[in-house]
Amino acid sequence: MNRGLDPTAIGKSFFRDYYRKLNPEDVDVSSFPMREFAFSYFEGAGMQRHEAFRTPADLSEHLRHTVPRHVYYSSAYYTNPSAKDMDAKGWQGADLVFDIDVDHVKTPCKELHDSWTCKKCGATGQGTCEKCPKCSSESIEKEVWVCETCINVARDEVLKLIEFLENDFGISKDEMSVTFSGHRGFHVHVESEAIRSLGQDGRREIVDYVKGLGLDYKQILVRVPGGFKLRFDSSASGWYGRIARWATLYSSGNELVMDLKTWQIAIEKCVSSEGAAIDEKVTVDIHRLIRLKNSLHGKTGLKAAAFSIEELESQHLLNRVKAFKGEALVEVKRVPQVVLDINLKEGRQRIPLYAALYLLLNGAEIVSFQVL
Ligand SMILES: [Zn+2]
Ligand SMILES: [Zn+2]
Repeated sequence: MNRGLDPTAIGKSFFRDYYRKLNPEDVDVSSFPMREFAFSYFEGAGMQRHEAFRTPADLSEHLRHTVPRHVYYSSAYYTNPSAKDMDAKGWQGADLVFDIDVDHVKTPCKELHDSWTCKKCGATGQGTCEKCPKCSSESIEKEVWVCETCINVARDEVLKLIEFLENDFGISKDEMSVTFSGHRGFHVHVESEAIRSLGQDGRREIVDYVKGLGLDYKQILVRVPGGFKLRFDSSASGWYGRIARWATLYSSGNELVMDLKTWQIAIEKCVSSEGAAIDEKVTVDIHRLIRLKNSLHGKTGLKAAAFSIEELESQHLLNRVKAFKGEALVEVKRVPQVVLDINLKEGRQRIPLYAALYLLLNGAEIVSFQVL
């Protein structure tokens, strides 16, 4: 980074422009006065929590004045959302929230944009790594980026989740909303009277079901001459039908008779491909703070845009989350080959402003940055 180039100041000035133009209705959420809000800023570490606002207009005023780097609100509803003590907040229920993030999913593009460094021996490599291949240390520093492929992979997981919620839990699509997480995935919010008061255990049951945990093989299989076959056909509801449809595809339509061990392997494969890759911690937490829709993500400069389910199925998700128009001339050292929908090279280049801002906010080594 050359002298005079201050990424925090540049980032903040773009965020200020963005929040100046944002309308109160863009940041409106249901039961608005019952939500806790939280912020972190460009200056200093830590999060400012336990804030509450009477109206979306009050919140948008606050965003304009303080220009936060990250904005969150509670999935929970409280009688006293600004109380500092959790017990004094008066929990009245919470939306059911799912977090889908490609951090937890294998994607083919990570080799192109992610890298890692072992903190113990200094080994480095492309892609993702949990354990150093050289010294076996698990102390790994990761540099992660998001590209269009990542977002499309995350979208496919969201569609799987929606299918579970609709068909297996009877939740109507009108009760679901989907928001870009601002980084490598999406949040799915369910707002329904029936679910609002559900505690942690009930939410954990939903997570386990969606991930296909604890499926009882004996319930699924029946003994026949020569081995076992599925007890249910593809018209069955829930996981039974899902496994049957998967097996039909896998066996090109023939009825499979296999031994128990082979079935076990096949069912495990099916569960890992058909289950939705959700982050359990987020769904189970009934006091969760989650990124506010239409706010900007402080490490990407991308907008946490809301998507209808029809919009989610369209191919150009990225266009909806870009918050800045225009171009920039940047000089960068050591960059990923691809970020968002842009191919990069080292050195000086003219790229869209949203991509330049992402490089800047996510800590790329930028030598110069000029808005065109
Ligand atoms: Zn190592
Ligand atoms: Zn990617």
